[in-house]
Formats: sequence, structure tokens, C-alpha cells
Amino acid sequence: MAVLIAGGAGYIGSNMTFMLAQSGHEPVVYDNLSKGHRQAVKDVPFVRGDLADYDLIVQTLRKYKIEAVMHFAAFIEVGESMDFPLKYYQNNFCNTHNLLNAMEQVGVNKFVFSSTAAVYGMPEVVPITEDAPKIPINPYGQSKLAVENLCHFQSQTGKLNYAALRYFNACGAGQNGTLGEDHSPESHLIPLIIQAAMGKREDIKIFGTDYPTPDGTCIRDYIHIEDLCKAHLLALDKLNDKTELVYNLGNGKGYSVSQVIDTVKKVSGKDFKVTKTERRPGDPPVLTADAAKAEKELGWKPDYPELERIIESAWKWHNQNPDGYKD
Ligand code: UDP
Repeated sequence: MAVLIAGGAGYIGSNMTFMLAQSGHEPVVYDNLSKGHRQAVKDVPFVRGDLADYDLIVQTLRKYKIEAVMHFAAFIEVGESMDFPLKYYQNNFCNTHNLLNAMEQVGVNKFVFSSTAAVYGMPEVVPITEDAPKIPINPYGQSKLAVENLCHFQSQTGKLNYAALRYFNACGAGQNGTLGEDHSPESHLIPLIIQAAMGKREDIKIFGTDYPTPDGTCIRDYIHIEDLCKAHLLALDKLNDKTELVYNLGNGKGYSVSQVIDTVKKVSGKDFKVTKTERRPGDPPVLTADAAKAEKELGWKPDYPELERIIESAWKWHNQNPDGYKD
């Protein structure tokens, strides 16, 4: 199937593109390179374009006879979204609306959307199931939920089959450690700890040690990038006969910030400074997924549930790319 990957030069999009090509699909990457890396896209058609550019999206969908769209082109920083809500709604919502409009115009009706556990806000019950209350507490989560809601109503018209995949903490490097995570600025825990282990930052700061968790630090559900992408492939398949799919994607097992730091120390064999600091606003103490629905309905099962293996793949990529991607 010819699949447009919006944001295909980014961390998750580039891994997805590779996996689609390996599985016999024909991915076409559409990315404005504001965050992504040209180097992460190999051997598939690449269109440098913005999702605000309706005409270019329509033209690209037609040119490559696109049958499905996977959408990863979004801003992802919660803190930044609090400071610049307009920017987040513009890119994450308005530009997605533009993309859906172009799809309707051309008659492309399959859509896989990169959503997030942030749609749940501060959950009262963990592990979280898909039907838990959705009360996002920041513009990032709100902008993603707004897209999910739009997709829901558009699917009711019969013009869209969509999957909204709510990621927990995507991490690790795919394709045998060759497609890694390189954000600028970096805000995610595992790459930041690895940078500390590599001596590229003076310490790793723990945001809060007084949470109601066994060691006082926040617990998250870390899911390997390849497992995440595998679920997208399965969801894409299912969109042939389902109009609406919503799944949590996580391992269901939580690790605390301190446990993640200890695992990086173990995998890397390096010691580094750990600094305890204040809580980061808006961090729930525990976020873990109940992914039973994806397992049951998609037949999805993570291949890399162990944190150590996830970190090994990330460590490998960072060591081979100490300064990140070159372009
Ligand atoms: N975190 C931390 N220090 C850092 C970055 C993150 O203690 O330098 C914590 C953060 O507060 C959260 C967890 O690590 O509890 C995962 O954060 P990340 O930003 O990677 O993902 P999020 O859970 O916010 O999507």
C-alpha cells in the first residue's frame, strides 16, 4: 500500500517508514524538517513540505496514489505547549485538520494518528484503559484529543477509517540501533541520562523525589520504538474493515526515574552525577498503560518489554551518533 508518512523524518516517523518499506508497503515521507532529520530517511521518496500547505499535500497524495496516511508531524513538548498554546493548536490541530481536508478532497480514507497518554491528564486509576476519563491538563494533550474527536466525527460520516494510537513513553532505537532519538532541545529522560553517561552533560536531574511511589520518583511505561511501530502496521491492516480504532500502546509495566537511571548506569558501565530537583509541573506520579485491547484486537505483543534491552538499543545509537544526526 502507498502510505504517506507525515513527519517521516522524525524519531517515530523514520522508524515507521523503515518498517513499512520492510513489510512491502510503499512509504512516502512528507516532512518540513523543522524537527526531523533528512539523514533518517533512506531509499524512499521524500517530499519537503509543510502540513499548512494544502495544495502540496493534495498534489503529493495524487502524485504517489496514496491510500493511507500515518501522521507523526506534531510538536511534543508539554512545557513548551503551556508557554505557546497557539503554536501547539496551530501545528497539532489546525495542520492536521488541513491534512484531513486534503485527504477528503483526494478520497484517501485511511488514517493512523499518533496520539498520546497525555489525553488522560492526571488519571485516577492505573494502569489506564482506553475508556478512562480524558481530561488533558496542557495544550499538548488537548490538541491531540481535539484531533481524536475530529476523527471520530469524520469517521461517522463514512469518509474516514482511523486509528488513534495513544503512546506511553516511546524510546530506544530501531533497526538494530541505527534509527535513534535526536530531539533538539532534548527533553526526554532516556536520551538525557545517556548524554550524562557520555559526559555530554554534567548531570541528570530527577524532577521530584517525593512522589507517592516506592522510591519517590515518577513511574512511566517505556515502550520500545519497534514495538510501537509494529502496532501501527497491525492497525493499518485492520483499517480495511474497521472505521474507528483507539488503542493504548505501552508495556503495562512501570519503571521509576531512579530505576531508569540505574539501568543506564548498568548498560553503559558509566557513573555520573544525579541531582535531585523540584517536581516538574504537570507530571502525574504514575502513568502505565493497560494495553490489553491492542493485544486482543490487533494481536499485538511487545518484543522488547525489558527496560535493559530498550536502553541497550538507545545506548548503541547514541554511541554511534555522539552528536546526533548530521542533517
Ligand atoms: N524526567 C526527569 N529528568 C529529566 C527528564 C525527565 O526526572 O531530565 C522525568 C519526568 O519528570 C517524568 C519522566 O522522567 O517523570 C519521563 O519524562 P519524559 O519527559 O521523558 O516523558 P513524559 O513522561 O513527560 O512523556
